[in-house]
Amino acid sequence: MEKPVRYRVGNLDIAVICDGYIKLDAGAVMGLVPRVLWEPIIGPENIDREHRMKLSLNCIVVRSGDEVLLVDTGMGDKVQGTPRERGFPGEYGKLLEGLRALGLGPEDVTVVANTHLHADHCGWNTRRAGDGRLVPTFPRARYIIQAGEFDAAMHPNERTRGTYFEENFAPLAESGQLELVEGETELIPGVTYWPTPGHTADHASIVLSSAGETAIYTGDLVHHAVQIERPAWIAAFDILPLMSLESKKKLAERALRENALLICVHNPFPGAGRLIERDGRRTFVPA
Ligand SMILES: [Zn+2]
Repeated sequence: MEKPVRYRVGNLDIAVICDGYIKLDAGAVMGLVPRVLWEPIIGPENIDREHRMKLSLNCIVVRSGDEVLLVDTGMGDKVQGTPRERGFPGEYGKLLEGLRALGLGPEDVTVVANTHLHADHCGWNTRRAGDGRLVPTFPRARYIIQAGEFDAAMHPNERTRGTYFEENFAPLAESGQLELVEGETELIPGVTYWPTPGHTADHASIVLSSAGETAIYTGDLVHHAVQIERPAWIAAFDILPLMSLESKKKLAERALRENALLICVHNPFPGAGRLIERDGRRTFVPA
């Protein structure tokens, strides 16, 4: 298990914990960009024989007063067998160990928020109880989700159904823990949903701001930090790529203006860094 990495953002205490990693087709991660351009940057050693690259599953925990907020919940432990081998290979399911390393149990989490509901971002939202029933993993938490995203996930189409698994979010409505919101919404004091559409229509990043400092948990606005440096590099997973382009430009401007700590979900753990600009060239510098 990766040890939690902590950061201070103004008066907020933030920890990055990791559910593990998945391996996805590298060409899909890099979208229209030819392999000859991205391979020297990613490193050929990071691509396996099946042409897949590792994507870390970084999640964050923010404490503020009595609130314990968990953003994104990784792949979880419910995907097994053929779907795991074919669709979501990797090593994952370690999020609760990460929480424990922070001295927290599932019952300590008061709010869960998902940037979106793809399988690699909400797996630990639920778990299977001993009797086989699906139950929320965090029994006391409010689960806050963008209404449009929840609707898209509950009504997937031919293209999106491969990653929207009802078992990850339908039980939350049944248990009465689901809270649907629209657009920019405060999750806990100092932490806000920030709509960044493109990867999905209602995808939202998470902004932490306190005492003049900012951190942004990007969600899947980028799958690799190079995609912030180069806004035209957009993953094939994005359903609205031109909207991703606009959202990424908005993210980069804000990151530069506020010298924000960026936490990239899928960059190698802990995925945190800052964007700097020199001579018109933007570079992501790991923190
Ligand atoms: Zn993802």
